[in-house]
Amino acid sequence: MVETVLVVEDDPQIRRVTEIALQTSGFETEVAGDGAEGLAKARTGRFDLIVLDIGLPEMDGLSLCRALRQTNDTPIIFLTAKQDEVDRILGLEMGGDDYMGKPFSPRELVARVKTVLRRIAPPEPEGTRVRGQLHIDPATHSVSFDGTSVAVTSREMALLDILSKRPEQVFSKSQLIDSVYGVGFHIADRTLDSHIRNLRQKLSAVGCSDGIETLHGVGVRMGACVGAA
Ligand code: CA
Repeated sequence: MVETVLVVEDDPQIRRVTEIALQTSGFETEVAGDGAEGLAKARTGRFDLIVLDIGLPEMDGLSLCRALRQTNDTPIIFLTAKQDEVDRILGLEMGGDDYMGKPFSPRELVARVKTVLRRIAPPEPEGTRVRGQLHIDPATHSVSFDGTSVAVTSREMALLDILSKRPEQVFSKSQLIDSVYGVGFHIADRTLDSHIRNLRQKLSAVGCSDGIETLHGVGVRMGACVGAA
């Protein structure tokens, strides 16, 4: 599937360089040279991702993002020329998915675009996943350990889904929040912690005391799920 990126940037040279870098990496692109045009195009919802300059004529990038977010959650990577803009992106939790300071390397921008798109890719449907004695089937929302079924909530299922998909990978809390709640959704780490704790308790209750492993200061990954204490 070819993914399409909207580049909203008023500087023709940066716009062109960005477009070429994306096209070279296999993306389709569309461009807008000011905020009003950018918002109109973004609102069509045809884009997989938006690269959005903050300093724009007509409507700046932050206002565009705010307006767009009322109806549309297309991921956004901001381009910013000033440190105080970075502070505003971070301070206001603008709903952007990443940002790049100018000047930037087009190659790095492409890498960031790919990372954001990978992060939000919907899991492809598949059959039951088996980890140790734990069986997980997200499609039918069923979980069982050694033949005993475990009732889980949809958030807990989403957590198990992402963890079991790459059982060796350690996931940071922000990665898990993005997967469970969706990119741009801001929740406190402790909310995620409580889902993890509840899930761990439910698994322990059926004998799976090694269901989820916490690596302090790093993140969380799937345990061996063999029932060891
Ligand atoms: Ca600009």
